[in-house]
Amino acid sequence: MRVKPPYGPPWRLAGCNVLVVGLGRSGIAATRLCVREGARVTVTDMRSADRIDTSMFSDLEVRQRLGEHFERDFVEADLIVVSPGVRWNLSKLQAARDAGVEVVSELELAAGFLTDIPMIAVTGTNGKSTTTALAGAMMRAGGLNPFVGGNLGRPLCEAVLADARPESLAVEASSFQLEGCQRFRPQVAVILNLGPDHLDRHGSFDSYAAAKRRILDCQTENDHLVVSGDDSGALDICRGSTAVRHCFVHGEPPPGGAGLADGKVIARLYEGGDDESYRLGSHALRGSHNLANAAAAVLACRIIGVSSKAVQQALDSFAGLPHRLERVRVLRGVEWINDSKATNADSAAVALRSFQGDVVWIGGGRGKGGNYDELAEAAAGRVKAFLAFGEDGAAMADAMRDYVESIERQETLKAATERAAELVKPGDVVLLSPACASFDQFDSFEERGTAFRRLVEDLK
Ligand code: ADP
Repeated sequence: MRVKPPYGPPWRLAGCNVLVVGLGRSGIAATRLCVREGARVTVTDMRSADRIDTSMFSDLEVRQRLGEHFERDFVEADLIVVSPGVRWNLSKLQAARDAGVEVVSELELAAGFLTDIPMIAVTGTNGKSTTTALAGAMMRAGGLNPFVGGNLGRPLCEAVLADARPESLAVEASSFQLEGCQRFRPQVAVILNLGPDHLDRHGSFDSYAAAKRRILDCQTENDHLVVSGDDSGALDICRGSTAVRHCFVHGEPPPGGAGLADGKVIARLYEGGDDESYRLGSHALRGSHNLANAAAAVLACRIIGVSSKAVQQALDSFAGLPHRLERVRVLRGVEWINDSKATNADSAAVALRSFQGDVVWIGGGRGKGGNYDELAEAAAGRVKAFLAFGEDGAAMADAMRDYVESIERQETLKAATERAAELVKPGDVVLLSPACASFDQFDSFEERGTAFRRLVEDLK
């Protein structure tokens, strides 16, 4: 094995045989990076060539194995880089590991080239993208020229490939990316919360939690950990971490951490130091969950030295992200909101809790194997009508039976949206917050949210 570990020296890939598995945006960025570093690269994807946009790498000299994986490519590689969409326990990856081949995620590959740049890495079950984008906005306001990406938008390899080297990194790290990390060591790791998600892929909650924990595994006492002090799941996985801990909690701020009270974040960064008070000026940060996300971003950015003024500026001007409690329009006094990104029960529950009442709620899609009890409690007293659609619609409707007065089943999102338009009165909110993945009827949560947006924009 000629590949050198990235801490401290960066990867040395010149002349190595690298296999890139999965040709989504991450795989293509990884391919580009490995070619730039002088590796001999083979790319493989189970999709056939006609289902992949090969023009994305037609300028690169790479060997292509499309439509099939060949075990030889795996066991004979010096390094395998795995895209987040590829199962970590794929039998050919296991065979490669057994043969002593180094197997890493795209995130870990990229991070090995970025060890000299301050990094805030954000994980958790919900709120990762919002917190990452917000931390990025704070860095930008502080003049720190950030790269914002990872699981959100641009893969981290694009930070390495960028012409101008970023001065700071705000990185969203998903469980799929983290499970392929052995050396990933962010200066600041953020764990927002931990609840059941992606059990279909990880197999059990324990293995999902273990993947998340990898964000901390390589940190030392020189690094920092920002974690919710109110979330027992998140705290559990932090046991044994040696990093300096900063908790955010509801109520009084703990030393080194932040308190959430009256819609404000109060940060107490140093024992004996002055408290700093931050308000959430942007309406894109509504809901108590966003107060937690904001607290995490405030702590992380203050730790790496963003000024309090820049932090407040970003909290006032943050535009929010599409498909996360995104206001589509207000039509005859009815607010239509697209929260298509709420792909699990926890995130839909917090979305519902952001409203006082009179919500016409549209939910459903492909269930993720959790239960809907918490969600039913969040719906009680807030949801005046529930329109359930898609594969898991019946199960959701059933779970809401004792909590919501009016429940209707609809086949599609379109039918549910049209029905919502018939049910609403001025002052109501129509909320698409599915609590499910989109894959039964759409390619992605983005496609689902865009379809909803279009349906709502077309309403007369
Ligand atoms: P992620 O990237 O982790 O999926 P996002 O920031 O994209 O998180 O938000 C996804 C959904 O999760 C949002 O639509 C919102 O309803 C919910 N959410 C956001 N932040 C939190 C949080 N801190 N706790 C629980 N749910 C949240």
